[in-house]
Amino acid sequence: MRKNAGILSAISLVLFIMISSPCFTEEEPRVISALEGQIPSDAIILFDGKDLSEWTETDGKPSKWIVSNGTMTVNDGGIVTKKEFGDMQLHLEFATPAPAKGEGQDRGNSGVYIHGMYEVQVLDSYGNKTYIDGMCGAVYQQYPPLVNASRPPGKWQVYDIIFRAPVFDKKGGMTEKPTLTVLHNGVLIQNNVEINGPTAGAIRENESPAGPIVMQDHSHPVKYRNIWIREL
Ligand code: MG
Repeated sequence: MRKNAGILSAISLVLFIMISSPCFTEEEPRVISALEGQIPSDAIILFDGKDLSEWTETDGKPSKWIVSNGTMTVNDGGIVTKKEFGDMQLHLEFATPAPAKGEGQDRGNSGVYIHGMYEVQVLDSYGNKTYIDGMCGAVYQQYPPLVNASRPPGKWQVYDIIFRAPVFDKKGGMTEKPTLTVLHNGVLIQNNVEINGPTAGAIRENESPAGPIVMQDHSHPVKYRNIWIREL
């Protein structure tokens, strides 16, 4: 009996040490600088107010969006990044037109398509009713935002989007759906939702581990600034 009790306490001690110690194999996190008012040092700049060098039209021609005063404004067709990304943290800022014009989906409509196929809706949803899974911050026609954190038209607003790309097995079958988390003006509006296939207006059909970012032209002069991405 006494021998068994000794073994049991030895096992308990080992378990206690394992549970209470940090993971043995964990690497020291990489150091990046994230200074106040600056983008993270490991971010890729997609638009810093100067030019559209990271973008083309969705057919590959030069973009005609208007760059002025550090912003770019929707003009004559959607645009797509030249680079592709897998898992990501994406930051962008937008302002819908002021004074507001139109109603419902016809008011300050644009959007950001992750992988060119999953739209996080951009819309003037400040006192503007529409179907809830088409509001600002909706994963278009899949998930309405958890809350409406919209600012008035003309005011700068922020999206911080965390995206995990779909995972595939060796035969190309999807084993994990893509997921999205979105903060709108610092407020959580999509909480790790599983995306169920491409949304309307996707420029690609087949889901894959990587894809570009597309900004939608919905015929409204929505402005963007300060767009950057971190590959995860
Ligand atoms: Mg849209």
